[in-house]
Amino acid sequence: MIRPIRYWNGVPVPFLTAWSGEDPPPQALVVRHGRQVSGLGFRDEDPAVDRQLNVLWMRMPAVPGVGESRWDTVHALRQRQTMTRSRCQVCGGGVLDARADQRLLFLFGASADRHPVGEGERTSSPPLHATCAQLAVQHCPFLRRGWVAALVGYTVDWGVAGTVYAPDTLTPLTGRVDEVRYFSDPVALRWVLATRLIVTLHEIDPVTEPTSPPATSPEPPSPASPASIRSAPSGSPSGSTAGTFPGGGGPAGTRRSDGGVLELAHHLTEFNPATRLHVSAACALHRYRAWQLGC
Ligand SMILES: [Zn+2]
Repeated sequence: MIRPIRYWNGVPVPFLTAWSGEDPPPQALVVRHGRQVSGLGFRDEDPAVDRQLNVLWMRMPAVPGVGESRWDTVHALRQRQTMTRSRCQVCGGGVLDARADQRLLFLFGASADRHPVGEGERTSSPPLHATCAQLAVQHCPFLRRGWVAALVGYTVDWGVAGTVYAPDTLTPLTGRVDEVRYFSDPVALRWVLATRLIVTLHEIDPVTEPTSPPATSPEPPSPASPASIRSAPSGSPSGSTAGTFPGGGGPAGTRRSDGGVLELAHHLTEFNPATRLHVSAACALHRYRAWQLGC
């Protein structure tokens, strides 16, 4: 069910987006010693709250609507909730009941080679309603340059994204966001402070945009955010399994019209003009600018 979303300065803010009132406090990290191994922990840790699958998660206040929206920051707890509870990254409503077949819709900005979503592809971007996806494509400059989508039968937890700390100094090992896979790297899993859950996508029914991105776009480049991970598995087929919207889009090389967007919603049998005031979390993930909303 689609839920109302919050506004900041007249701009709708996706459910996934963090607010300044939710800025992470100092994490009070310590080394915790077990019977045979040691790992990262909090000084006043509550495993029931601070861990999932024995992985430590970043602490963030959960006060959406307090302060300013942090367009380039994903709230760690809400990202995990939307993934594990099949909730929409834009409005926060449940998505399992959005379709009779209970398949989940995932939407991404198109890669440079515009390959479709592939079987086993991994992502930290949660599912969303078709209506929310439609409005995301309408409003987000990143997605307006090109997008791919897929209906997904089921997802499998792959691992986490976060910061891996050095055991001896408790400082980050690298200056970037690391991806750590469950069960395959037990050492890194003990020393990572997770911020996002990564899943793999299965039983893929790709829905792709058949046109090329617009040749002339007024929007400035939107830097890719580490908050949005989309990686095709090695060896996956490229460009051979994609479907297209029935009658969607125009000839290659032309700018996609809003009609193509509407076809997305109609194809997914969920379009509801009464719920137009939604905007994609993907916009926030790509440093969406308020003035680009036209609000
Ligand atoms: Zn939604």
